[in-house]
Amino acid sequence: MTWKKESRTRTTIRQYGWIFVFLVAFGGLWLPRLGLLLIPMMLGLAMMGFFRGKYWCGNYCPHGSLFDAIILPLARNSQRPDRLASRPVIWGAFAIFMVGLVSRLTPVISEWGTVGFWDRLGYVFVFNYLVVTLVGSILGLTINARSWCSICPMGTFQSITYRLGTVTGLNTKTDRKIRVINPDHCKRCGKCTRVCPMQLTPYDSGDDEDGFNDDRCIRCGLCAEQCPFGVLQLDDTDNRPDEYVDQAG
Ligand code: SF4
Ligand code: SF4
Repeated sequence: MTWKKESRTRTTIRQYGWIFVFLVAFGGLWLPRLGLLLIPMMLGLAMMGFFRGKYWCGNYCPHGSLFDAIILPLARNSQRPDRLASRPVIWGAFAIFMVGLVSRLTPVISEWGTVGFWDRLGYVFVFNYLVVTLVGSILGLTINARSWCSICPMGTFQSITYRLGTVTGLNTKTDRKIRVINPDHCKRCGKCTRVCPMQLTPYDSGDDEDGFNDDRCIRCGLCAEQCPFGVLQLDDTDNRPDEYVDQAG
């Protein structure tokens, strides 16, 4: 399979979100309080995960913008090894990240109220952000631009909150998934897969009423946009336009 370097920067956030990465990951080395910006961001993406799965990753994540806008043109863009996206690696990365974060946060929080507390707290997040930036960029350059997204602990965190949203039924009306709205028109040409940042095969969801349920899908919509035959649609669960419901039969 040849992977295409299709432009993925359709919105201003996707085009320039990487500036935030440079500001916090590198600017934070001089001004550690910048790391405090990551606290509401992490809470926000967890909340969004509850209602929309990994929609954050494909549409708002600053690192996603870095990988798509800066890394992609330079990347090898080769096949991601299956073991990189295996469960042990995903959960191992999540465990290492969480243990590292908590072990660095614990001594800092015990210094609550002291001079320099907010700088030390901010630096914990700056450090994590810098590590993700460097590791993600290296993986992006040497494998494919979004390799990091397969194992990103924040993505795993969103998968967890999404399952909670699904189990409780609270994301029924807010979820957005890829749907095969026109299955008879699919030529299985693979163009959707070749442009997919996560190297997925969305047309394989066939007539599934529930949409494309692959946990790795970041709901970027690129596959739907690039399908030459209008087979795919990034859509709301309960708010599909009537004509698409009709076409899906
Ligand atoms: S690009 Fe469209 S027609 Fe080609 S495999 Fe994907 S869904 Fe099917
Ligand atoms: S399947 Fe489509 S929406 Fe999901 S990550 Fe791939 S291109 Fe984006």
